[in-house]
Amino acid sequence: MAGPMAVVFDCDGVLASNGSSWQSIHESFGTENKEMFTRFVNREIDDDEFMADDVSKWMGKRGRIHKDDIARCYSGVRLMSGAREVVEKLQKRGVLVAIVSSGVDIFVGMVASMLKVDDWIANGFEWDEDGWMVGPLPSRVLSFEKGIAVEKFRRINDLMPEEIISVGDSGSDISMRIEGSRFIGFNPSASWSLDAFKSASVPIVESNDLRSIWPLLFEGEGF
Ligand SMILES: [Mg+2]
Repeated sequence: MAGPMAVVFDCDGVLASNGSSWQSIHESFGTENKEMFTRFVNREIDDDEFMADDVSKWMGKRGRIHKDDIARCYSGVRLMSGAREVVEKLQKRGVLVAIVSSGVDIFVGMVASMLKVDDWIANGFEWDEDGWMVGPLPSRVLSFEKGIAVEKFRRINDLMPEEIISVGDSGSDISMRIEGSRFIGFNPSASWSLDAFKSASVPIVESNDLRSIWPLLFEGEGF
């Protein structure tokens, strides 16, 4: 099988070593969203309802939130081991690299510029002119329908689905696998994700070094 022309990565838990860029804000603000997360995974609430609930919890705790407060939540977050090397090597081979994330755009944008990826999309907030949070923006990426963004990327770059490989760590990331394309489950973060990968029969890489996916991108080739 020929190597890919494009690799589309999830961000949280794949290119970055954090669990969730939404969770990072809760940890920093001393709030939590466990119950809503469970409802979200069970598909009882959608991305927009989840984001609205997060924002109301933060506002309730902090009164108001500045853009800089959000950026500061990510000061301790690191890139996944091997992420820089994998992205560089892909781009050196002429492979397009994109991020499709339902995470927080302030964070995903930081990762995108650190890694100099070709394209990225994520969810985010509306800010007033002084940088204070107004509320969540309507979702740009639906966690369980990430294929919509992958398909848009495919069309813009005139690619065949067969030329695309997506990489994600969450069960919802399987939705990145548009028909005809491939998917790699990387370092599944939760048991529901591992179960979802298994029932979708996708290759699973249990490692916290992104270089481990290389033999699956380019059949049998070591990094
Ligand atoms: Mg993830």
